[in-house]
Amino acid sequence: MCGIIGYTGTDNAVPKMIKGLTVLEYRGYDSVGIAAQVGKKTELVKCKGRIGSLEEKLLVNPIENCSCAIGHTRWATHGGPSDANAHPHRAGNVVLVHNGIIENYKELKEELSAKGAKFLSETDTEVAAALINDCYQSCKDPIAAIRQATARMKGAFAFGILFDGYEGEVFVIRRGSPLILARGKDGYYLASDMTALLPFTKEYCAMREDQIAHLTRQGVTCYHNDKVFEPEWKVTNMTPESAQKGGYSHFMLKEIHEQPEAVLKSISPRINKAGLPDFSCDNITPDFWKQVKNIQIVACGSAMHAGMVGIRVLEDIAKIPTTVHIASEYRYHPPLMPDGTLVVVISQSGETADTLAALRYAKSLGVPTLGIVNAVETTIAREADRRIYTYAGPEIAVATTKGYCTQASVLWMIAAAIAHARGLISDASAKEIVNSLAKEVPAAMEKMLEQKDLFHKIAKSLVGHEHVFYIGRGMDYALSMEASLKLKEISYIHCEAYAAGELKHGTISLIEPGTPVLAISTEADLFDKTESNIREVRSRGAQVTLICREDIPVRKESADEVVSLPVSSPAATVFSALIAIQYIAFETASMLGCDIDRPRNLAKSVTVE
Ligand code: GLU
Repeated sequence: MCGIIGYTGTDNAVPKMIKGLTVLEYRGYDSVGIAAQVGKKTELVKCKGRIGSLEEKLLVNPIENCSCAIGHTRWATHGGPSDANAHPHRAGNVVLVHNGIIENYKELKEELSAKGAKFLSETDTEVAAALINDCYQSCKDPIAAIRQATARMKGAFAFGILFDGYEGEVFVIRRGSPLILARGKDGYYLASDMTALLPFTKEYCAMREDQIAHLTRQGVTCYHNDKVFEPEWKVTNMTPESAQKGGYSHFMLKEIHEQPEAVLKSISPRINKAGLPDFSCDNITPDFWKQVKNIQIVACGSAMHAGMVGIRVLEDIAKIPTTVHIASEYRYHPPLMPDGTLVVVISQSGETADTLAALRYAKSLGVPTLGIVNAVETTIAREADRRIYTYAGPEIAVATTKGYCTQASVLWMIAAAIAHARGLISDASAKEIVNSLAKEVPAAMEKMLEQKDLFHKIAKSLVGHEHVFYIGRGMDYALSMEASLKLKEISYIHCEAYAAGELKHGTISLIEPGTPVLAISTEADLFDKTESNIREVRSRGAQVTLICREDIPVRKESADEVVSLPVSSPAATVFSALIAIQYIAFETASMLGCDIDRPRNLAKSVTVE
């Protein structure tokens, strides 16, 4: 969380900071600030709130003649959102911005206070600034000071640092938190994420753990252990448009609509000429799949819910015993890992700290790992033994849609690949699954996107209610969990997902006349049972919306509203249900006037544990 950015070159730095921070706001928006070098002085402008508040301040007191600056948009971890806690922080000759957490900041703060350091904020970041400054006062060398200070820090950090007396120079280091360097026509950049730099350049280089970079107007020098080297620049295929709303009112709406294409892009590189599942582009052979005896999926939030979809297909199609684990819990109650275990970690950003910690734990036990990641060259993508990229493109809305959907589609493809490699399904059946994911799923999703008016009507029936329930069985329980999270996180309506048959074991007591219950039914053979559960809540006055296969004749008395799902294939039905649940959440939040792309208290890319 938190977004950091920096620039040194020949152009005006402040507008670049504003533009980049606007893109980075999805990473946190508790406060915003910049440090701008003007001649020998470094000016700090920062405030609680969003980028607009900073722009207002800069209108009153404009900064001119600045071609070197750093900036920050915050998701508070240590100290509430306030002007004082806003980054950048200054200590002596050092000004810095930080993404991460310094876990041992209390001890360091006591030690530095005893030496006379004064602190103006409650943040861990200010302690880091003070420690670097303390080291700098004795060695008078920025690189040595950064090395000495960070050797004493525990936790995760990406720092952009300015030193007084080093005009036009920015120093950078990362450990645990992400950081990208970039080269443009008019200078050099750093940022937490490449999307922030797309308006300026396409040439980038992802920094490695514990690497230090020294940016000047002339170039970049990197330091790693005893090595000194120049970055190897690569060219991203992302475009500036991919990080813009493209005519939609919200990023979330744009991203919902991008899903058919995102699924196609994620599936098609993994189809061979014969139309069979083939992961050779990810350096994964059928022999590798054959060795897998059981799978543990480890992830957080929606990625974990994608894993729940994964359980169904990996067990049903590939007959591989599969479990899903919450990443932040994994290390504290590690499951047994018999021979043949594959740990699959899933993270859209590739930087999710909890997932990364779980990945490192699994690696420390010598278990093979596979990362399913969207953002290329990120820490999880690099550290997992094998990686499969989802090609969803940049996802900016905090609530994931296309990220989740491509993860689920890739897991479905993996299930087909394993089943085929193990000889459990014929070529014809494997081709059928592949064809369904590459053709029928995108087509069914497109069809669902046309039902906007119906989703709007359903959303209207949810507004004004304090509690909502999603229910479903099997795959539909997995979908209900994601549906409930989507509604909660963006509309702030409390919503619970329940296995349809479980409701009567206690929670049905919460159903009152008018309580909205949304039931999902993508599996024909489970419908009768789910319908009985619907009757149970209906007879207690619940208002029911049924999201259901179009080939099931729904009795009038079963639901107030029905969403019909295409049935061209099992995957097509599941993924079209996904459009319905996302769109209903979007429309509800929109009617309630919520900040859909940036829900309160949340941030994307959760880089803290
Ligand atoms: N720990 C720092 C703060 O609270 C940075 C937070 C973050 O990167 O999420 O200000």
